[in-house]
Amino acid sequence: MIGDTIWEFRSPRSKFGVGAFNELKFEIERIGCKKPFLITTKGWIKRGLLDRIREILGFDIPYWDGVEPEPSAESVEEGAKAFSQSDADCILAVGGGSALDTAKIVNLLATYGGTVRDYVAPPYGNGKPVPGPVKPMIAVPTTAGTGSEVTSVAVVTLKAENVKVGISSDYLRPTLALLDPELTLSVPPKITADTGMDALTHAVESYIAKPYWAREKPDDPSKRPVYVGSYPVTEALAEKAIELIGKYLRRAVYWGQTDIEARSGMLLASYLAGLSFGNSGVGLAHAASYPLGGRFKVSHGEAVGILLPAVLEYNAPANYQKAKRVGELLTGTNCPERTPEDCAKWAADEIRKLQKDIKFTPGLEAVGVVEEDLIEMAEETLKQKRLLATNPRPVDVEGVIWVYKRAMR
Ligand code: NAD
Repeated sequence: MIGDTIWEFRSPRSKFGVGAFNELKFEIERIGCKKPFLITTKGWIKRGLLDRIREILGFDIPYWDGVEPEPSAESVEEGAKAFSQSDADCILAVGGGSALDTAKIVNLLATYGGTVRDYVAPPYGNGKPVPGPVKPMIAVPTTAGTGSEVTSVAVVTLKAENVKVGISSDYLRPTLALLDPELTLSVPPKITADTGMDALTHAVESYIAKPYWAREKPDDPSKRPVYVGSYPVTEALAEKAIELIGKYLRRAVYWGQTDIEARSGMLLASYLAGLSFGNSGVGLAHAASYPLGGRFKVSHGEAVGILLPAVLEYNAPANYQKAKRVGELLTGTNCPERTPEDCAKWAADEIRKLQKDIKFTPGLEAVGVVEEDLIEMAEETLKQKRLLATNPRPVDVEGVIWVYKRAMR
């Protein structure tokens, strides 16, 4: 029933549109920042970002361009050193999810000291909570996938253990999300496809996320409980995101250098999906992608996208109506099948069809996974308790293996 749950929607201030990046001077002044520090990639420096910023602001700003794709803890700590040595008072992060995530943790380490592992949960780190507010951060995404510009999470790779881990805190959410579709025109087709699948997975998993009450601090009962899982706002955001991806992802992959409408549609979709999953959580596709991230040469979007159709089928019995709706939103048509089971299968097949059209990686086999890996990977998946808490259908080893097998090719 509407109103029977108290939920809270969290989001940074956001600005969206072609040319929005030109508002940078106004926005930096608006947040009261005198000396911004740029965090970006070498690719963006080559593409003339410094000249563009000088044109907009009228002066040069200090920068660090050491962002790695799927960033390592070492790279982030190096960035924190560079930011600490400057006398800058805010961060401007320009790039894909890797740049935005790097900037979030750079901000944390430069403000409170310590290492990445201090803030990573056991067994990989000390599990220290983020102590408090960090410096203002403007997030400018240049891929349409992660939604990191609006989320409170940052993901890093720990090279020693070959695992990816997240640091999450409301304090890490950027101050402003500044989204300009023009900045995504240069994304190559494969990265457009992978990041597009990341956005679709966020949208679908948050749409079907199971409601539950989590506490801010599980060991401290005095903390107020927090509602996680889908609710009307996140559902509306996810529905719109799925619809936009169905309409624009093929065009963005094939005509991405010039089709600004398709790029705008995809950037809007990834932003909406980010708002949705950033408030409701994700599920099994994300949990089961973690064992892939460190061990196999696979990007985040590729990993979750390969698993998505099988995960939708696996979860369908928990809510056939929503599974069917995913297919209808994606295709803009009604389900042509008669039974709920067939409609769920149809929806998953429509995702597979889209993936085939955009030449997306066809399955786990293609990234080097063999059947012998599956049990160990499934056991690792079950350790992702935070991600699995919102998965609508209970998950056990057999369930994860069923999903992996179905996603092999
Ligand atoms: P990415 O940032 O690693 O970028 C992929 C590649 O594209 C890089 O080589 C980058 O330099 C290049 N690139 C970026 N923008 C470009 C542009 N406009 N033109 C040309 N090249 C461009 O990829 P991503 O998928 O955006 O981010 C992946 C990271 O984000 C992973 O570490 C993943 O785990 C994390 N992630 C974070 C969240 C979150 O909420 N914080 C959510 C999902 C994923």
